[in-house]
Amino acid sequence: MSTAQPLEDKVSIVTGAGGQIGAGIAVELAKAGSDVVIADVNVLDTEYNQQSSTDVGGADRAQEVAGRIEELGRRAHIVECDVTHADQVAAMVEETVSEFGGIDVLCNNAGIITVDPVEEMKEEEWDSVMGVNVKGVFLPSKAAIPHLKESNGAIINTASIAGSIGASGLAHYCASKHAVLGFTKSLALELAGDDVTVNAICPGIVDTPMWNKVLTPTLDEAYEDTIKRVIPLGRDQTPEDMGKLAVFYATNRNVTGQALAVDGGILQNVI
Ligand code: NAD
Repeated sequence: MSTAQPLEDKVSIVTGAGGQIGAGIAVELAKAGSDVVIADVNVLDTEYNQQSSTDVGGADRAQEVAGRIEELGRRAHIVECDVTHADQVAAMVEETVSEFGGIDVLCNNAGIITVDPVEEMKEEEWDSVMGVNVKGVFLPSKAAIPHLKESNGAIINTASIAGSIGASGLAHYCASKHAVLGFTKSLALELAGDDVTVNAICPGIVDTPMWNKVLTPTLDEAYEDTIKRVIPLGRDQTPEDMGKLAVFYATNRNVTGQALAVDGGILQNVI
């Protein structure tokens, strides 16, 4: 006799799931039994992101992620959606509801980064990072809340250890992730009466385009050296690690307003 999975018959949306952490979250949710809507975008409004291009190809990469979910016997549905555009977000939420009948889990994971000192930072660069990382959490939450109230669902935001510390060259990114944590804690209180939980995942260092193409050259160190230097456990984190925490949040009805760092001890490594 097969045992029912904890997220059997549930419906999850993961934004930025054409990217690596988003894919890890989507696949772990599917392993736990959920069907998954993969929301990502092919073309962004500006080139201020980790790919230094407007052509980010996220919705195209989502095809491979959908294949991994379907191999697990779960339904996957790709929606091309820029999380900074309210009309596209509303359409994505409506498409999810008409395709699957409701929403149980919303993972606001899409995020971007650039590296520049404030003195040299372009206004467009600030707006781009704050737009995707903060407004891109607000808009899908707002659109999905009525459906999450019906399902007593969960919102899971991908923040960062940058939501707890400062980093030179990353003032906009750190500000955006601090904002995500403030939003998470506040929304948890707003939705507690409706039995909707709101929590955050704070990744440390995951080997994705963020670190490979943006941070490593400015740190003037090889990626492996960075890991050995700053992570007490001596290894980087994986998309699967983040997905496992997402499943924990999605299946624990008494955890809300939390922000757990999955960072191998980085935040404790002051001395
Ligand atoms: P990634 O570049 O692999 O994935 C990001 C995805 O977001 C891409 O597929 C991209 O197309 C998508 N995206 C960007 N702008 C979008 C928009 N406007 N609308 C919809 N989709 C959009 O990066 P990742 O490392 O997987 O990052 C995922 C999340 O994890 C981000 O929020 C990031 O800030 C956070 N994070 C990453 C690390 C790390 O070490 N990689 C550490 C801490 C936090």
